[in-house]
Amino acid sequence: MLDVNIIKKDFPIFNNQPGLTYLDSTATSLKPQTVINALVDYYENYSANIHRGIYSISEKATDEFEKTRSSVAKFINADPFEIVFTRNTTESINLVAYSLGRRIVNSKDEVLTTVMEHHSNFVPWQMLAYENGAIFKIIDITDNGFLDLGTENIKKNIEKIISKKTKILALAYVSNVTGVINPVEEIIRLAKKINPKIITIVDAAQAAPHMKINVRKLNCDFLAFSSHKMLGPTNVGVLYGKKEIFDNMFPFLMGGGMIKEVTLRKTVFTDVPQRFEAGTPAIAEVIAFRKAIEYLDRLGLDNVRQHEKEIIRYCLDSFTDNFKKEVVVYGPQDIEQKNGIISFNFRNYHPHDIAQILDEDNICIRAGHHCAMPLHERFGVSASARASFYLYNSKKDIDKLVEGLKKAKRVLK
Ligand code: PMP
Repeated sequence: MLDVNIIKKDFPIFNNQPGLTYLDSTATSLKPQTVINALVDYYENYSANIHRGIYSISEKATDEFEKTRSSVAKFINADPFEIVFTRNTTESINLVAYSLGRRIVNSKDEVLTTVMEHHSNFVPWQMLAYENGAIFKIIDITDNGFLDLGTENIKKNIEKIISKKTKILALAYVSNVTGVINPVEEIIRLAKKINPKIITIVDAAQAAPHMKINVRKLNCDFLAFSSHKMLGPTNVGVLYGKKEIFDNMFPFLMGGGMIKEVTLRKTVFTDVPQRFEAGTPAIAEVIAFRKAIEYLDRLGLDNVRQHEKEIIRYCLDSFTDNFKKEVVVYGPQDIEQKNGIISFNFRNYHPHDIAQILDEDNICIRAGHHCAMPLHERFGVSASARASFYLYNSKKDIDKLVEGLKKAKRVLK
């Protein structure tokens, strides 16, 4: 069991903003003191560029930067040379779409994604298909928010969707709207059976902060996530890629740090991962990201997941007890099949009004389409309210949310 009272002491924002009820960790998480200290330590003590200087503070910066790469690799059971640092999940996915997708997808090929994707894992593929004249295919969901692959015989249904023509399969591990956990490992296994050459990209932005990921077991070709959603700084994204695929990929951005040799006539690119890290990266942020991983490792992701399950159960029960049929919750309600995200709507009130009234009491939730317009269209609404939970949230936060929602009802009546 996590002790939230102790955990909260590690996050200075709770001291500086007394009364804060933060329920928007899906957008970005709060940061512990150790992460903030690591940022300051870099700037105060060894703020040199990396991979360049033959002097000690630059060597220290390089060393600390590369240590994070190793920590990230270990965190998802990969090797350090399979980890590329980008700015965020969005850039990681775009890197694959530009560097690989644009080169391998031809007209009449198919690019496959799902209706539940965040725009980051939807628009790059839609554009790629459009520009390369390929067919853009979308896996639908069932009315209760699961990928529509049929419950009885997933294999048979996947055979209807995926063929040798499917060049790309891009899908979310966890939806940022419903929190549904997709059976990614099984889908990839079946997809590769049908088409061993298919390239699979997993958007793990909402999975990496909350549950153990094992890229070897998933057998995905690429996997993307963001530091800022898992206690780390902004401006650091991760792209895991299989070495044999990365090695044959053309760079995304050209410039310093990604070449072996440049002459007037030609340029030879350096090896992966540096080949995909042109220019000066977010040095302080990458270094501090390691402290976030250490924090998660210390708590144990299994404990984090267990804690979130309890919070989610409590929230769903509180909604039922207090609002009954007035509120619609999107997606599955079984806590084994979802993580710490609840998107909902009151039948009579707009989510923006609700979020604004909650804000009067320092309760932070999201309202809008959460960068998942196709999914909202599928649910027949243009927006929803979203409360999301992390390791520093407690049942008290849910009680405050419920009280805030009751107040919103009184005000909006
Ligand atoms: N995918 C999912 C599932 C997300 O939840 C998000 C962030 N809301 C992203 C991608 C994009 O992440 P970032 O803004 O860090 O690029």
